[in-house]
Amino acid sequence: MKIGFIGLGNMGAPMAANLIAAGHEVTGFDMADVSIEGLTMAKTGAAAANEADVVVTMLPNGAILRAVAAEIIPSMQAGATLIDCSTVDVESARDVAQQARDAGLLAVDAPVSGGIGGAAAGTLTFMAGGSDAAFAVAEPLFDIMGQKAVHCGESGAGQAAKICNNMILGVTMIATCEAFALADKLGLDRQKMFDVVSTSSGYSWTMNAYCPAPGVGPQSPADNDYQPGFASDLMLKDLRLSQQAAEAADADTPMGAHAMALYQQFVEIENGAGTDFSAMLPRFETRTRSSE
Ligand code: NAD
Repeated sequence: MKIGFIGLGNMGAPMAANLIAAGHEVTGFDMADVSIEGLTMAKTGAAAANEADVVVTMLPNGAILRAVAAEIIPSMQAGATLIDCSTVDVESARDVAQQARDAGLLAVDAPVSGGIGGAAAGTLTFMAGGSDAAFAVAEPLFDIMGQKAVHCGESGAGQAAKICNNMILGVTMIATCEAFALADKLGLDRQKMFDVVSTSSGYSWTMNAYCPAPGVGPQSPADNDYQPGFASDLMLKDLRLSQQAAEAADADTPMGAHAMALYQQFVEIENGAGTDFSAMLPRFETRTRSSE
């Protein structure tokens, strides 16, 4: 298949490399100077897209996706498929998919979970929105770049699934970290806390698979001085998207709103930017009930 790949950053570059390794002919474009073995770089996004059967985008946000889509959609061949794997707001995903359909293209919004490690290993999970026909084109590529793809519904459903999942993740991480900090103050050993909670009703992915306490549970960013992993800044981005969507849909999400406010404080005021999102634990360790 001829594939155009636009946005070859931390996630896009290894995803494109996996498509090349599977035998696809990939032409790429990025604003930055990028070089990937076996990939032909184009001078513009439109040039990367105009001969492609499928164009994959992996971009920072909805505004950039809209700008790139406005450039490439008119240059794509009728019947080609646009697969956006970026995490963006639901409205941008729906609008871009509509523009693609209006131009005679198929469109899928397919944000991922699994991070940079999953992108490199080809073990991402794709959450896809779009028609059955569009998903059928995209699915074999998801199988190369990932280990699971769920067709969540019509356009925007992939982004909806992603932000709901990550709202749960952000809230749960905070709850896990504040519980560890409370356990510390109660004199409860962290390993005992893990042994109990990981096998009791308080268990969660953040406790069992990604424990925020160094030296406890399986290896996680906490064991590597909280180097990401999944950066607090990206968690803040996803929590903001969840609250933007909640606002638009008039959904009451008090825990998501509070998680967003805490990550915002952590990232923008408390030097949490660039740390893993589990670094909420050392943050809580330094605090008391009267901390601002
Ligand atoms: P990144 O910043 O490393 O990569 C984005 C790339 O897009 C950069 O190389 C940048 O130069 C390029 N770009 C920006 N504007 C462009 C334009 N107009 N035309 C062409 N290229 C342009 O980001 P990333 O970590 O690869 O994340 C990409 C997306 O994946 C984001 O939406 C992010 O939320 C999502 N995501 C990231 C992770 C993660 O762990 N990094 C996990 C899941 C989802």
